[in-house]
Amino acid sequence: MANFYCKCCGQDFPNLRVLTTYSCNRSDTGKHQLFEGNESDVYLCEYCGTEFRNLKALCASNCIKSPNRKHIPYEGGIKTTYSCKYCGREFNNMKTLCAYTCNKSPTGNHFPAR
Ligand SMILES: [Zn+2]
Ligand SMILES: [Zn+2]
Ligand SMILES: [Zn+2]
Repeated sequence: MANFYCKCCGQDFPNLRVLTTYSCNRSDTGKHQLFEGNESDVYLCEYCGTEFRNLKALCASNCIKSPNRKHIPYEGGIKTTYSCKYCGREFNNMKTLCAYTCNKSPTGNHFPAR
């Protein structure tokens, strides 16, 4: 049976009810937030493209590109091409997408579409 993961701290829960009941010290809202992507061998940060073996490791380190300085797991799964949701440019990996500036994005950087 699949577990439910918090995308802020990476903790796993046996069901959604438990996840939503407890508070999370890494979440901006103070509550765990459900990671809606699939379980995978690799998790990517959607701001910097760094790869992690699990969500806990992703959540535990800091991100230089994210607005809240935390890596945020990409929920779109592992793909062969990633496209920017603001300009539609395609990249063959997330790191490259995150590395270039985007003139259509409000943050100035490309951001992956799901
Ligand atoms: Zn959490
Ligand atoms: Zn990051
Ligand atoms: Zn773009």
